[in-house]
Formats: sequence, structure tokens, C-alpha cells
Amino acid sequence: MRNILLIYTGGTIGMIKDQRTGELRSFDFEYIYDHVPELERINLNLKSISFEKPIDSSEINFEHWKEIAEIIETNYEYYDGFVVLHGSDTMAFTASALSFMLQGLQKPVILTGSQLPIGTIRTDGKENLITAVEIAAAYDEKNEAIVQEVAVYFEYSLYRGNRCSKISANQFEAFQSPNYPELAIAGVSIDFSIERLFRTTLPTLQVHTAFSNQIGMVKLFPGIPIEFYKSLFELQNTKAIVLETYGAGNAPSDSILQEYITKYINSGGIVLNVTQCSSGAVKQGTYQTSAFFQKIGVISGGNLTTEAALTKLQYLISFNYSPKEICILLTKSLVGEMDI
Ligand code: ASP
Repeated sequence: MRNILLIYTGGTIGMIKDQRTGELRSFDFEYIYDHVPELERINLNLKSISFEKPIDSSEINFEHWKEIAEIIETNYEYYDGFVVLHGSDTMAFTASALSFMLQGLQKPVILTGSQLPIGTIRTDGKENLITAVEIAAAYDEKNEAIVQEVAVYFEYSLYRGNRCSKISANQFEAFQSPNYPELAIAGVSIDFSIERLFRTTLPTLQVHTAFSNQIGMVKLFPGIPIEFYKSLFELQNTKAIVLETYGAGNAPSDSILQEYITKYINSGGIVLNVTQCSSGAVKQGTYQTSAFFQKIGVISGGNLTTEAALTKLQYLISFNYSPKEICILLTKSLVGEMDI
């Protein structure tokens, strides 16, 4: 019998309506168990650990990521798979962060949640939870876990964690992974696309729990008052900036923006260019409006999602790497987060 650990962090799946205010608030893990009696009938050895105070995922921070990673590390050898119950709002950030934190993973870490609380009649939480547990327990005939990476399961699809984004605030199909196809589709059976699954080359799990908060993010928009962002482009405030540009990585030829970026990079700052489009990739130099980036040393984020770009920088900057080393690592796929 497979051993599966459920890690409950909070999110809509376990929320109930406050009768007084009508607001949804997080509730104990027992509440979920009471509403999914099927979990007791699954032929698995299922144990659970809950955050002391379950949270709405908008509250998630580095401490919570550390807590999840440490729970997995401590229990790694005793369980065959892990299911993390998490609010959908920031699930793609947590999934990306965990993929960098848990390198060398050879067991499944499946994040799931729901759009409707588990106590409501039309909840999507039951199916998401039960199938996520089944995926976490899926092993092949060689006794190896089928999924050996951090993944998100939502509404019949399994996505690579660092490739997906939340795309809907109200549809059950809340996630998409436009730049990397589903790892599995759940229908009558769960069909895994074996060739799409990530495999580590590391022999053992290596957990890294530090993150840097010296990362900025600038999303370009027509009429952006770039002067307001001046302090962001100063090395004492940030060590790296994710620049969300238009299309294939384009930006206006604004001389102030160019001056900020030039000074920042010359003083050791890192600028990572990702696209605002939900699919496709940055290709600096395709248009004149991105040639400047290429010339000055802005790093192309390729087809990284914004969530993966941000967490990759938060992760990399926490090491004592030189800016040059970080720039090299940014052009590599560490855990399947981008196409090279
Ligand atoms: N606000 C909720 C959260 O992210 C939404 C959800 O769970 O889907 O925690």
C-alpha cells in the first residue's frame, strides 16, 4: 500500500462561509476530511499535516514555502508521494518556487485546490483532491514514481508546476500551461504523457529554502511614468528585476528607461525579460524595439512564465553567485521551467 502525505496549507477548498459577514475563511483540515469520506475508502495509507493556521494563498510568503519544503524533506523517505492543498490564487508561484527548492526530486509533489469550497454541492474540490492523491500514488511496474516533479492538478489536467498560471478567477478550469503541454489528462483513466515528464539527473533530494526579497518587477504599459520606478533600478534596493515586456520582448525606445536599465546592469543588476503574452517566447533582437536589450545585456527569459521568472530569481539571488554566474543560470533550464 502506498503512503501519501497530504499537506494542508489552506485555500478555498477548506473554507467555509462566515455566517455573520458572508466572507469565506479558512477552516481546519478535519472539515475537508468530513466532506470527502471517499478518502477513507481509497486503498492508500493517507496521512495529513496541516499549517497551524491555514491561510488564504494571497498571504503566502517565503516562510510558508520553507515550511512546505521542510515538511516534504522531513517526510521524504517515509512517503511515496505528497499532495499540497493550496489556494489557487498563488498556486503557480508556490509550485514554481517548490520546483526550484526541491531539486533532485524523485517522488511526486502535487498541488491542488478548488474554486468552490469542499462543503458546497457543486464543489470541484472533491475530484481535484481525489485525483491528485491518485496521481501522487501512481507508480510504474519498475516501482518508480510516474511523476517525479512538482505539478499542479486542476480540473482533469496535470501541469508542470513551473509552467502553469492561474488564468480564471471563476471557471473550474482555472489553470493553463500554454508553453508546455499537460503531463496527464484525467478521464476514465489517468493518461500520463510519459515523454513530457521531468527526470532529474541528481542522485538525491537537495532542499534549498532561502529566497531573496531583493527582486523587483516592472510591467510595461503605454504611458508608464517610468520616473516613479527609479529607486527600483538601484542596486541597494534590488539585485534583479523581471521586466514584463510586450510581445516577443519589445519595449518603447524611452531614453529614461534605457538609461535606468543601462546604469543598473553596469552596476551589477540583472534584468530578465519576459513577455506579457501568456504563450510564446521573448526573442530579443527580432524587432528594433528589443535590439537595445540585446545590446545592453538584458537576459531573455525565453518562454518562462512570470511566476517562474520571479521565483527563479528569488531562488538564484539567495546564493552567493556573481551576476555573471546568475546570468548563465538564467539561460539554462534548471527544472524544466523553460525551453532552450
Ligand atoms: N483566495 C483563495 C486562495 O487562493 C482562492 C482559492 O483557493 O482558489 O486561497
